[in-house]
Amino acid sequence: MNNYRNDFPLLSRKINGKGLIYFDNAATTPRPQQVIKAVTDHYQNHSGNPGRGTHTLSLESSRVLEEGRKKVLKFLHASPEEYVVIFTKNTTESLNLAAHILNGKSVITTVSEHHSNFLPWQNKQVIGVTEKGTINLSEIKTKEGEVLAVTHGSNVTGNITDLAAIVSIARERHLITVIDAAQTIAHEEVNLTETSVDFFAFSAHKLYGPEGVGVLVMKKHYLTAEPMILGGGAVDKVTTSTVLFKHNEERFEAGTPNTAGVAGLLAALEYVTSIGIKEIKKKETELLEHCLQKALTIPQLKIVGSVTSDKRTPLVSFTLGNIHPHDIADFLDSEGIAIRAGYHCAEPLHAALRTGPTVRVSFSFFNEKQEIDSLFTVLDICIQKFA
Ligand code: PMP
Repeated sequence: MNNYRNDFPLLSRKINGKGLIYFDNAATTPRPQQVIKAVTDHYQNHSGNPGRGTHTLSLESSRVLEEGRKKVLKFLHASPEEYVVIFTKNTTESLNLAAHILNGKSVITTVSEHHSNFLPWQNKQVIGVTEKGTINLSEIKTKEGEVLAVTHGSNVTGNITDLAAIVSIARERHLITVIDAAQTIAHEEVNLTETSVDFFAFSAHKLYGPEGVGVLVMKKHYLTAEPMILGGGAVDKVTTSTVLFKHNEERFEAGTPNTAGVAGLLAALEYVTSIGIKEIKKKETELLEHCLQKALTIPQLKIVGSVTSDKRTPLVSFTLGNIHPHDIADFLDSEGIAIRAGYHCAEPLHAALRTGPTVRVSFSFFNEKQEIDSLFTVLDICIQKFA
């Protein structure tokens, strides 16, 4: 796995004179050369306005979008008979679009959600988590609703909720499922044919792809819903008094899309597939366990959520005595270590877990155990400095 590190030009950057240690993968992942090349190649050789023109460049750009949809479905083991792929600008827009399509329905969601899967839902009831951050799925039985909007992986605790468990309870209660997969897309194998969720959202930038491209995979029959954004490309026919919207993905993609971004997403999907999610998970679990072990030896360090690597994405959030997480983040940055500090856009979860802001370190398969050792060496200095 060590060789993959060389694929990422960003990792050879110096920050404050120190070699970069990148532990903010849950926020956004660096891009491998293959993805950067695909984006550049698109602009250098293929870029035309997709879906509109009939010239070669326009057709080549349209093909990127078609290929992108096919690749996303393949990556998620989803059938084109059952699902469509809508390109958005990020997970947030995908979830807003799902909320728009399901407008008016009563929603059950969880306190564990990122604000992006919390705020778009208007008419909602909220289920809780255990003190380890595990979502209390059985609480769903005490709620009335038509939609179940749940995160697959928490961006604060890393806790993964099994899609099979979500779907099983949703079936019992006849709930439409909306899954926020922003945190799991780079770490977990997903099979939509088996789980058959209704809506599934993620961002390319958390999967080694470009910023500005999100995906909403949804069951085909929702293609009859009202579009959220109105304009060019989404329509079959417009008169001064009427409009006939398309009955395909483009219905929800008005305006010129981020085709270069989709070209980058395509390359990212190929890249991740070539390594294999199983291999990725194996390496990331080793890193996670190493980090948890080290964290548990520091008396002032309090991990938020579970202290084991079971059913978890490779991240650890924690507090360090009374030192403010932003001070820790600044100090780590001065040593070239990039982490995240704050509420991670999940304030209700922090309140439920009775914690203030936290430090979050998040790993990728390209990270090394020695980098984690360096992190803990610097955290030790930090404890002494701020004590
Ligand atoms: N959901 C979760 C669980 C996330 O971690 C994030 C990103 N932090 C989002 C949604 C939003 O993703 P984006 O900013 O790409 O829209």
